[in-house]
Amino acid sequence: MTSTKEETFFIIKPDAIEKGYVGEILSIAEKHGLHIKALKVVPPSTELLSLHYFELIKKPFFNEVLAHMTRTSLVVGVFEGENAVSKWRTLLGHTDPSKAEAGTIRAKYGDAEKFENAAHGSASIEEAKREIALWFPSSSDMINIANYVGPN
Ligand code: UDP
Ligand code: MG
Repeated sequence: MTSTKEETFFIIKPDAIEKGYVGEILSIAEKHGLHIKALKVVPPSTELLSLHYFELIKKPFFNEVLAHMTRTSLVVGVFEGENAVSKWRTLLGHTDPSKAEAGTIRAKYGDAEKFENAAHGSASIEEAKREIALWFPSSSDMINIANYVGPN
């Protein structure tokens, strides 16, 4: 069978950090077979976020996105697993927390009124590669697990 093991990039956003959901969100990923390949705290950086969200720069809500995303340092990382990109996006739910499917991370931890949606996930394998290279330029920051077993 063809292996569909992929890497995806994630951010735990300031709203979720402020509410104390970092561990819970990482735990949901781990319970679904996504293991943490990289993890770090990055100080607020308009420059990095503008590169990360370059497609949004001309959108009317971009300044709000920047204000939200620079409120605290960010927890950023890489998950690895089978179909990691689509799996993580499914666990996140819809971009708009008011439309996020019940039980998803953005429905549970997001704030629909403020359009703050708790966490980011790459939308495609190509986007994941670009984002991982942007946030983790050194491959020595990655954990290589030779024999991933998963939680019991
Ligand atoms: N966003 C927003 N208003 C919108 C659309 C997006 O504030 O109408 C923010 C939101 O935080 C979202 C981010 O911009 O997560 C990136 O938008 P994208 O369309 O890439 O959604 P995502 O890939 O995060 O689901
Ligand atoms: Mg996106």
